[in-house]
Amino acid sequence: MSQPPDRLQSLLNPHITRLEEYTPIQPFEVLSRRLGLPASQIVKLDANENPYGPIPEVAEALAEYAHYHIYPDPQQEELREALGRFLQVPPAHILPGHGADELLDLLCRLFLGPGDGIVNCPPTFGMYRFDARLQGAAVVDVPRRPDHSVDVPGIQALLQEEDPERPRLKLLFLTSPNNPSGTWLPDADLRSLLALPVMVVLDEAYVEFAEHPSRAPWVLEHPNLVVLRTFSKAAGIAGLRLGYGIFPEWLLPHLWKFKQPYNVNVAATVAGLASLRHVEKIQAVVAKLKAERERLFQALQAIPHLRPVPSQANFILCRVEGRDAAALKQTLEQRGILVRYYRKPGLENCIRISVGRPEQTDRLLEALHALA
Ligand SMILES: *Cc1c(COP(=O)(O)O)cnc(C)c1O
Repeated sequence: MSQPPDRLQSLLNPHITRLEEYTPIQPFEVLSRRLGLPASQIVKLDANENPYGPIPEVAEALAEYAHYHIYPDPQQEELREALGRFLQVPPAHILPGHGADELLDLLCRLFLGPGDGIVNCPPTFGMYRFDARLQGAAVVDVPRRPDHSVDVPGIQALLQEEDPERPRLKLLFLTSPNNPSGTWLPDADLRSLLALPVMVVLDEAYVEFAEHPSRAPWVLEHPNLVVLRTFSKAAGIAGLRLGYGIFPEWLLPHLWKFKQPYNVNVAATVAGLASLRHVEKIQAVVAKLKAERERLFQALQAIPHLRPVPSQANFILCRVEGRDAAALKQTLEQRGILVRYYRKPGLENCIRISVGRPEQTDRLLEALHALA
């Protein structure tokens, strides 16, 4: 007789069994079928993807590459050199990953176990919580203020208090520009937080869209700072999965021991190298999206029930007033327009709209005016 599933389930790692279930997003093809609309007619403004996709040189490089049958370079020498030149940081500080998401997971696995904890500043990106919980670590929330700024004194008070009962707080996750608010963490705040006895992980997934420079070079002066970046948003290759981290020199040898040797595939590597050879073309796409963000922001401000938050990223968070945000999201969806809806603490009755092409903005605005 075969073994009963609950007996086998009891073999599972207990902190995994206790995890809350993960809700994956609906694949584009499934949505297109459900809405009865061809994919080309769907205005997808729900996942902060780059509507222009990669620059043409990426497709050319992928088509020309002749060595897909060979395993990738586990050290990613060529890509790290190119990233080093781009960032003005020595390659010895740089590690590419299968998306920035993989690097978040690696950091959590490197530092956390049961009895440990992270400091999280919600509302923010969900993966910090997810990856910490995967390690059986606790998540201590220091919520952002109503204007979405980080509560620096709250974090200082938490990390300076001596409490042998509570989990050992090892990692502080910060996001600038923050997702979903699009707000910037000022230099002075980051500097104060770096003085605390904790590893600071600064997620810069959207920094290319900001009016401020990246803090990647700060890693050279702060042994407790990691900066994560990605090709998913500005470079438009979210589907290929390529991110990178800038790490203090003492930390990287541990990650080398630890990561899967072939974590970054050759297609992502070829696409990343082609992108770095034509950075000015990506900057032109980013400039177009930033101009469109300003137009979208002005237009959203003119819609009576929306309160858009000024953004440094390629999306705009809106509080919906005097009507139900879930219903608004549904109605837009029936018209083939996808936006992200939230109902979490600090994000009550909110939607987040990614910046698209001008014609996508037009369709969104037309629908919002018709519903106003
Ligand atoms: C999209 C996003 C990422 C994920 O980047 P990948 O390189 O695609 O894994 C990381 N952090 C934030 C805040 C994001 O919004």
